[in-house]
Parts: sequence; structure tokens; C-alpha cells
Amino acid sequence: MTIRIGNGYDIHRLTPERKLILGGVEITHELGLLGHSDADVLTHAIMDAMLGALSLGDIGHYFPPTDPKWKGADSLMLLSQVNQLVLDRGWKIGNIDSVIVAERPKLKPHIEKMREKIAGVLQLEPNQVGVKATTNEKLDAVGREEGICAYAVVLLEK
Ligand SMILES: [Zn+2]
Repeated sequence: MTIRIGNGYDIHRLTPERKLILGGVEITHELGLLGHSDADVLTHAIMDAMLGALSLGDIGHYFPPTDPKWKGADSLMLLSQVNQLVLDRGWKIGNIDSVIVAERPKLKPHIEKMREKIAGVLQLEPNQVGVKATTNEKLDAVGREEGICAYAVVLLEK
């Protein structure tokens, strides 16, 4: 068996009058993430990790923010397109691990739903999709609630 590993990182700014969507789950909060698509920072980090594992570039290349086609796009739909690129090359996902860094709101109650949603799109078992959440201990921009960031690692097998 051959394996490949990829890592991904993303950050989006928090702003009023936007929805907060993480891992495809809409979370009630007074702030949401700003972006051309739905700004689902977790899903974006996972997509970049999948592309990175195959040295296929990053999501900006496939879904440029300058293209009106992706305005308000559902990131889970973009994730399924990235998954197809992986499958077309004969690879499958072994597992994903990820971390969301957010000062607020409390994400723990939403983690299982995120894992189910992501696993559903990627046709994986939820136990192949790790999602963790932490705060930034009030440090830096994320700690000041100016944004939310996410990190992901993906292992691919062939
Ligand atoms: Zn993003």
C-alpha cells in the first residue's frame, strides 16, 4: 500500500450579519465568517489537506474567489468535488484529523454533527473523521474573536 499525507490551514474573519458554518453545520452565534463562499473554514482546511496530499495545489486554484460561480457556495459541495479529484486518481482517504481554533461559541455540542456531515460527503465512517475544537486562550487575532481558523491533516491510501 502507498500512502500520502497532506496538511491544510485556513482562517476567516468574523463579522456581524454572516452565518457561522463549520463543518457544514450552521451554528447560532452573533458573528459569522466572512468569505466569498459560505466561509466554512474547517471544510476549507480539509480540502486543502486533501489537495496537498496529492500536490494538486490549493482550493484557491480550483474555486477562485474572483469567480462569481462560487459566491455563497456550500463548501460541502466543494468538498465533494475535491473528493472526486482524489478518487479519480485512484486514492482513498484513510483518515482525517482537524482542529478548529475559536474563542467562542462553544463548539463541543456541534462536533459530532460536523463529523457526520463531512463523513457523509466523503463516504467515510465518522470514526475516520477527527474534529477537535480549542480556544486560543484569548491570544492573538483568534483570541480577540476577530476570526476563526482551522488546521487539518489527511492521510490518503492507494
Ligand atoms: Zn476559506
